[in-house]
Amino acid sequence: MTLWFIRGLRRGVVTTRYPARPDASAGFLPSPPAFRPRALTQTTAARLAATCPSGALRLDGDVLVFDVGRCTACGRCAAAAPDAVTSSGAFELAASSRSVLIKQIPLRGEAP
Ligand code: SF4
Repeated sequence: MTLWFIRGLRRGVVTTRYPARPDASAGFLPSPPAFRPRALTQTTAARLAATCPSGALRLDGDVLVFDVGRCTACGRCAAAAPDAVTSSGAFELAASSRSVLIKQIPLRGEAP
């Protein structure tokens, strides 16, 4: 700790320039999922809801409800259905209203 303090005094600012400039490490951070609606069937959505440990995903009729505020970006949903879920790459998720963090994703019917 002392070493870093002395190093900071010698070199000046030693933190990144974020948020004034994008941080290169952002590309490696875990982020909440993004969904491919065309690949989301009722069966897949039910599996995703059962997989999610934080309750961020739930089925409501023919809609998959995604509460981004509950998501821990664990990646289990993407691992369970890689054809329907991918990483969003978005980690700046501050919002002034809780309701804007809740997404409703319509499900398509089962494949014939
Ligand atoms: S990343 Fe994890 S917490 Fe977030 S929706 Fe997927 S399973 Fe749930």
